[in-house]
Amino acid sequence: MTEPWTATVLTLFPDMFPGPLGHSLAGTALQEGRWLLETVDIRDFARDKHRSVDEAPFGGGPGMVMRADVLAAAVDAAASRAGPDQVKICLTPRGVPLTQARIRVLAEAPELMVVCGRFEGIDQRVIDARGLEEVSLGDFVLSGGEIAAMALIDACVRLMPGVMGDETGLEEESFEAGLLEYPHYTRPRLWEGQAVPDILLSGHHEEIAAWRQEERKRVTRVRRPDLWQSYRAARGVD
Ligand code: SAH
Repeated sequence: MTEPWTATVLTLFPDMFPGPLGHSLAGTALQEGRWLLETVDIRDFARDKHRSVDEAPFGGGPGMVMRADVLAAAVDAAASRAGPDQVKICLTPRGVPLTQARIRVLAEAPELMVVCGRFEGIDQRVIDARGLEEVSLGDFVLSGGEIAAMALIDACVRLMPGVMGDETGLEEESFEAGLLEYPHYTRPRLWEGQAVPDILLSGHHEEIAAWRQEERKRVTRVRRPDLWQSYRAARGVD
């Protein structure tokens, strides 16, 4: 049997894992061995007696920077245990923003290395020398890469066969066809004076599907003009 999808997280806080990834769908799948999670404590690769992993930045400025030599030793140790197709990611607000399309590719890769930054970030030389792919969770700043790593891994794991109960649901989700999802409603039918849209109670499956598709377009147009433009461009409408 081939090895399950494996994520190796390099962090100064290995105790944070599995954290939320140990619960619910991802947690059950982890227990069932559908995917593997390994952590590497970057501090184990520090060389001095204080086990220091960070230094003041050259050129001055605030904060501390993670040392290239220490992190490279951790990256090399993790890479030596992995196959040649391991994708190596470094989380940073300077990276390419993560998308569902990229998540789909990462979920197909056999192994993932995820490097979590702390302090002001990581010495650029290790990122360049080890070919780490710089990935951002979005245009905001976290205090460390661990929560971003959990988000990235969670998004990959839920795409794996058998992890989600209802796999057909994935195709209709936000971003899958370049649109956001339609709104959801459930019981009770009337809540605080608000009724569920009549169409959803009609039993006309085709009309419901058409209504939902119109809702997807409407909400995408209003909330995400960027996505809407790409959606239209992909269909040859400008
Ligand atoms: N000085 C940096 C921010 C450092 S935040 C800058 O201005 O770009 C400390 C660490 O948190 C980063 O090294 C990174 O690993 C993580 N981090 C913060 N925001 C992130 C984001 N939007 N996406 C991914 N990782 C992030």
